Amino acid sequence: MNLKDTHSSISRRIFLAGTAAAIGAQAIAGGKGVSSAETAAARGPIPSLDGPFTLPPLPYAEDALAPHISAQTMGIHYGKHHKGYVDKLNKSVEGQKYADLTLDELIVVTVKDPEQTAMFNSAAQAWNHTFYWQSMKPKGGGEPTGKLADKLKSDLGGLAGFKKAFAEAALGQFGSGWAWLVVKDGKLAIQKTSNADTPIAHGVKPLLVIDVWEHAYYLDYQNKRADYTTAYLEHLVNWDFAAANLG
Ligand code: MN
Repeated sequence: MNLKDTHSSISRRIFLAGTAAAIGAQAIAGGKGVSSAETAAARGPIPSLDGPFTLPPLPYAEDALAPHISAQTMGIHYGKHHKGYVDKLNKSVEGQKYADLTLDELIVVTVKDPEQTAMFNSAAQAWNHTFYWQSMKPKGGGEPTGKLADKLKSDLGGLAGFKKAFAEAALGQFGSGWAWLVVKDGKLAIQKTSNADTPIAHGVKPLLVIDVWEHAYYLDYQNKRADYTTAYLEHLVNWDFAAANLG
């Protein structure tokens, strides 16, 4: 490679990085550039320049969950935190055999490997956040129907029983983590996990999740995790997503 080629290769890399930064900036710009879920969906995954894993697009605009979750929270949570986990994951798998695995496979393999805790944390956080965005929708809340409603009734005491147990798990998770509605041994159940931990690492199928890391709610609710949890349950929870996961 002569000097000219080297220079051209570097220029191309800077150009590509600049393009990615522009896409990222557009993605976190809220109302400007990405003003509807259709636009976000049409844009598709933000391509990763440094590895095999990509940051999936949000399923709605960043201001779509306001006033319950502000565009500012979404912009930082998605554009900085979630993107950061994907970027860190791509760095940690670089040149490793694990780079060929799917994200789900990587989580199942690394949870059992004490030398790969950092890789597990990045992979699980990348997965958990994608699942969290889908667990909510604009004008969510309401009541589940059909098979999911029947199972909530038989396994958790109906919608009221679910809300009580889910809120208790969300509030009872000490420090950072997640609260989940899952299917375990054929029954609906509530679980909480610490930090990056995720039910799919342990063969348990999740239906819904709420992120209870402080970064998920502190700008909008400060220390009032209970108010954030209530807003999630009353205005945001996506029962269609849970029903689809139940199958
Ligand atoms: Mn989070």
